[in-house]
Amino acid sequence: MPRRTRFYKIAVPDLLLGVLAIQGGFEAHARMLRGLGAEVREVKVPVDLVGLEGLVIPGGESTTISMGIESAGLEPAIRAHHGAGGTVFGTCAGMIVCDDEHLGLIDASVARNAFGRQLQSFEADLEVEGLGDEPLRAVFIRAPWVERQGAGVEVLASYEGHAVAIREDRVLACAFHPELTDDPRLHALFMAMTTGARSSAREEAET
Ligand code: GLN
Repeated sequence: MPRRTRFYKIAVPDLLLGVLAIQGGFEAHARMLRGLGAEVREVKVPVDLVGLEGLVIPGGESTTISMGIESAGLEPAIRAHHGAGGTVFGTCAGMIVCDDEHLGLIDASVARNAFGRQLQSFEADLEVEGLGDEPLRAVFIRAPWVERQGAGVEVLASYEGHAVAIREDRVLACAFHPELTDDPRLHALFMAMTTGARSSAREEAET
């Protein structure tokens, strides 16, 4: 799977990000974000969100993650994080958890296990808006796709006619596992979104 090594640090002073650590692939996300120069904290309870500028909700099993969010009392805390200008990056099960039937952080409906049984796991090269010309190798594992997205949602990548990476304002979501390759461009985009949200919050405060 890994084809190249191109970790690079991007200049992000004091960027503190969280990775929801209830279930699923949170460690690989943390590793990738640290590789890009962010400080990363695992989030298990509401107080872990204090001071974070961005939160990754990893892939895994969306029902388990949703139940964990509920039982830890994280639902209002994640909403408050987002409402206060924080960013969110949901991947695979994390994308499901962000949709309008779960946390409602993005105006989209996401269908679970949408690629069917034959295509439980596969890889594909995707053209992703904003990541340059080089395709992104995407690892899909019992992946969802976006069934409906609102007018304010930008589709960044599609596979066989289905949206698999979307963005709305401060929320980025993808149906695949960007943490399982050595290509950090989507995480870098998330970090750029997060520092962008930081500067617009500052501008608002100054006007
Ligand atoms: N199929 C899982 C679900 O519906 C998502 C799979 C994944 O995150 N790799 O929760």
